[in-house]
Amino acid sequence: MNYYSTRAKTKENGKTAAQVIIKGLSDDGGLYMPEIIPRIDENFIKTLCPLKYYERAAKVLSLFLTDYTEEELLSCADKAYNYTFDGNTTKISPLYDGVRMLELWHGPTCAFKDMALQIMPKLLSKALEKTNEQKTALILVATSGDTGKAALEGYKDVKGVKIAVFYPQNGVSRMQKLQMATQEGNNVSVFAIKGNFDDAQSGVKAIFLSESVKKALEEKNTFLSSANSINWGRLAPQIAYYISAYCDLVNEKDITNGEKVNITVPTGNFGNIFASYIAKLMGLPVNKLICASNSNNILTDFLSTGVYDRNRRFYTTMSPSMDILISSNLERLLYLVSGAEKTAFYMKELSEKGRYEIDKSTLDKIKDTFCAYFATEDECRKTIKETFEKQNYLCDTHTAVAMSAAEKFKNEHGCAKKNIVVSTASPYKFAPDVAKSLGIELKGEKTDEEIIKTLSEYTKTAVPKPISELFGKKIRFDAVLEKTQMQKAVLDL
Ligand SMILES: *Cc1c(COP(=O)(O)O)cnc(C)c1O
Repeated sequence: MNYYSTRAKTKENGKTAAQVIIKGLSDDGGLYMPEIIPRIDENFIKTLCPLKYYERAAKVLSLFLTDYTEEELLSCADKAYNYTFDGNTTKISPLYDGVRMLELWHGPTCAFKDMALQIMPKLLSKALEKTNEQKTALILVATSGDTGKAALEGYKDVKGVKIAVFYPQNGVSRMQKLQMATQEGNNVSVFAIKGNFDDAQSGVKAIFLSESVKKALEEKNTFLSSANSINWGRLAPQIAYYISAYCDLVNEKDITNGEKVNITVPTGNFGNIFASYIAKLMGLPVNKLICASNSNNILTDFLSTGVYDRNRRFYTTMSPSMDILISSNLERLLYLVSGAEKTAFYMKELSEKGRYEIDKSTLDKIKDTFCAYFATEDECRKTIKETFEKQNYLCDTHTAVAMSAAEKFKNEHGCAKKNIVVSTASPYKFAPDVAKSLGIELKGEKTDEEIIKTLSEYTKTAVPKPISELFGKKIRFDAVLEKTQMQKAVLDL
């Protein structure tokens, strides 16, 4: 399987999976895509049904990462999913009205990013071996909170790799900040920057494309790589859990093999939902994909009007991992529905004018699969409260955005199909907002530790270990940079 840039497909720029996992972003600024989408059928699902999560993941990955052997993939998946998760790798909780919560936050950082970032470092190490790379890989990450921590956990003390994480100073939750500031490992660095997530992401992208940085690093025997969802090594493992969740529902006799389901995904960078789209293109029986946004509803607008316009107000919300105005992976969708040439044009428009508009036939194609809704902060709070009171299910702020979208979809379409709603974080990661939404009175200036305890007692739910253990840890990183200092920080490393 060869991989090509979303902005130009030529014979010369075809790369292997190992090469694109090392490289991350294409030189022309585009993202890598496989040359074809492999197909799966009912028999494939049947074969996967009796298997464990890591075995299913290896099977799905083997369809894309054809330069890895099955044994290599199985070994990577075993190390990724069988030791650092809390017993469940993924878990499905049935709720009312055909809603099936797909919990993806049972990993070491309590957010779904672990699903990809526990395995990607293993895939990268293998890739470095395969390509006989002797240089040090410096991983740069821009994060709206969860990616940073998950990447740090995944890459800490990995041989031949260093990692630097940049996050918006006021754009992540206190818990996320604490998780990153206390990160252990000898090859890790963490920086807060004065700006929002898009500033962090643009800063990292600029460093990637800078020839002078590249040269300076070459002299130090170092090259840059990415762990953001622009890297195919992040996206491919995410396809697996949609297929695996389908198998779980078949095993539970909740659906029959071949029955179509809807999938609702709380969306920021468009990575997670794009992985579900690939699963659908592969042949997973999926009806609609429901894209859920918070007040930063640029995707809701785009998916209904075909106009992507980032010239708008940026909101800091209680679902910070979705506070994004440039959804990088949308470029991959554009590539699939309109080809490389048009994608390059749209991306040029976006970088020059902050806006592009796709043609009607392209929009119609997208609308065949995608629906989009957004939740205001009030709706998000209300959803958390009602879901807890009526369903006895405690969801985090991001998952609540998805729940709200699923509700709107049902009211509009009255669809009888099962709806897999993706639950992307433990509620304890966003405990103050979750507690407030439930109407728990937080008297005085309670610390996060106290709020978490109160939330646990009130809801009779357990605090995940990675969170309860956080408060005893030493703060290691407290640097705050101007956006303009990011490049220097990287060179200093
Ligand atoms: C990253 C993240 C999202 C958004 O996922 P994308 O792949 O960026 O669309 C949603 N919820 C949580 C908790 C996240 O960490």
